[in-house]
Amino acid sequence: MKVFEETLYDSVSQCFRIDKLYYESKTEHQHLMIFHNAFLGRVMTLDGIVQTTERDEFIYHEMMAHVPLLAHGGAREVLIIGGGDGAMLREVCRHPGVERIVMVEIDRQVIELAKEYLPNHSAGAFEDPRLELVISDGMAFVKACEAERFDVIISDSTDPIGPGEVLFSDDFYRECRRILRPDGVMTTQNGVPFFQLDEVRDTRERMGRHFRDQTFYAAAVPTYHGGIMTFGWGSNDPALRQVPVETLAGRLAEAGFTTRYYTPEIHVASFALPRYVLDAIQ
Ligand code: SAM
Repeated sequence: MKVFEETLYDSVSQCFRIDKLYYESKTEHQHLMIFHNAFLGRVMTLDGIVQTTERDEFIYHEMMAHVPLLAHGGAREVLIIGGGDGAMLREVCRHPGVERIVMVEIDRQVIELAKEYLPNHSAGAFEDPRLELVISDGMAFVKACEAERFDVIISDSTDPIGPGEVLFSDDFYRECRRILRPDGVMTTQNGVPFFQLDEVRDTRERMGRHFRDQTFYAAAVPTYHGGIMTFGWGSNDPALRQVPVETLAGRLAEAGFTTRYYTPEIHVASFALPRYVLDAIQ
């Protein structure tokens, strides 16, 4: 029996049985595996780290797309950095008010292989006419943006290892702040604080330098093991993360789509952080 062992941490790892291996090879940027597991469905890993599984991806993608977009309430132009499997794009496309989506992914092969082996992730979203797909390093893209401005920026990156490292840098947050509209919101994949508390501290320090209101919200995604994962949040206005449940419910009803994890109540509650995380960021 073949087993995938995730070795993200020195002394703790998680293992998934590989019931069928679809693909394993090095792309131009990273080692990519896609395999089937009887419980999790299809699983993609990059550089030995779990990126997404068919079974639980809805939790992560709903929370990372709908919290900023429903909090904003009027986003027209959205920037996705990373997100090569296409599920973040799928969730952003559910918002009829969004008119333009720029997705900047460094690794073309992640997109191509996800389309082939993880078709339910993008579910046709790559064909959405609102999409402008850019194959580039996200840091280079945001640095090169001149007049372009966005209402919401979602950094759906790998962990700060290899090509993803630059997406956790002070420079990256500064450039994202520059191209975000004054009433805009940025969210970032920010790891599992029980194991990666330094990532929370680092993001607080670096992102906090460039956004007047910087904090985190959280959700537990089973295959990002170790309890809750945090999402970095940055905006100029604390009111953007204090939108009442009733308002969120009205916006969700108006958008006209259903969810499997996100609710307006969970949205509001997700900004309540455990004491050990609060202590790390204060
Ligand atoms: N949900 C996953 C997680 O939380 O770890 C991340 C999903 S997605 C697969 C991460 C994407 O970030 C990958 O497609 C990877 O190629 C992309 N990526 C990594 N570094 C990047 C960079 N510097 N610029 C743009 N995309 C990058």
